[in-house]
Amino acid sequence: MQTALTIAGSDPTGGAGLQADLQVFRRFEIHGCGVVTALTVQDTSGVRQVLPVFPSVVLDQLRVLLADLPPSAVKIGMLASDDVLRNVVLGLATLPETTPLVIDPVLRASDGSFLLEKRAWSGLCEFLSRASLVTPNLEEAAELTGTDVSSEAGCEAAARVFITEMGAGAALLTGGHRDGAPDDLLAIRGDNGPLFRWLRADRIESAPAHGTGCALSAAITAALAAGRSLEEATLEAQAFVQSALRRAQPLGGGARLLDFS
Ligand code: PLP
Repeated sequence: MQTALTIAGSDPTGGAGLQADLQVFRRFEIHGCGVVTALTVQDTSGVRQVLPVFPSVVLDQLRVLLADLPPSAVKIGMLASDDVLRNVVLGLATLPETTPLVIDPVLRASDGSFLLEKRAWSGLCEFLSRASLVTPNLEEAAELTGTDVSSEAGCEAAARVFITEMGAGAALLTGGHRDGAPDDLLAIRGDNGPLFRWLRADRIESAPAHGTGCALSAAITAALAAGRSLEEATLEAQAFVQSALRRAQPLGGGARLLDFS
């Protein structure tokens, strides 16, 4: 059995964050390890409070874990604060360069609350040089690259910034929050600049669901841990999230929760 590691915030609803990532890893028959970066107080209606874990404890969790259970792939989700981000960077210094690293640049929750303090955003961009793949939604892509992503050409320009300027190996811009078709753009570093592939998808008409971005990046990480190529992992993960979204359940009073079964 392969092992994957998620470095993420706790979402007590189980719909997003570390709790969701571990459920997704399990569905891909991957053993999931989890390093908690932050506690949140939240329900299906939104995030009420964010409490970063002591940065030195995040570092200790990583050091102890990586020495014992080397993962086949790693995902980074919510990092909460600049101090936590810096200690995650430090803690991953011993991760072999060949281990795929997927970074979901979680900036805000759907309700607008900050999940990464703004002064840490530039540090996150610097860390993208270690990412095999970065998975921003359109708002995150616009905020981090300063690019207008309202057109397909704009999305390609933003992906180019992630790869050429920030040094990520690939970028997946998720279009689920766009009006109209929710197409995703996969851009992979090539010898003569990024290679673009648009992944066309049909919109699933439904009430809002919680945690789709977390589930997508976790599913890609699990598929990479299972040995798939980046392109195969992305397609498999996209199909997985679409089917979980189709079956999403109104278990609480707010957003529906994805059905990972
Ligand atoms: N809580 C945690 C710990 C998360 O990592 C995320 C998203 O990454 C959220 C909440 C927000 O999820 P959503 O924006 O889908 O409500």
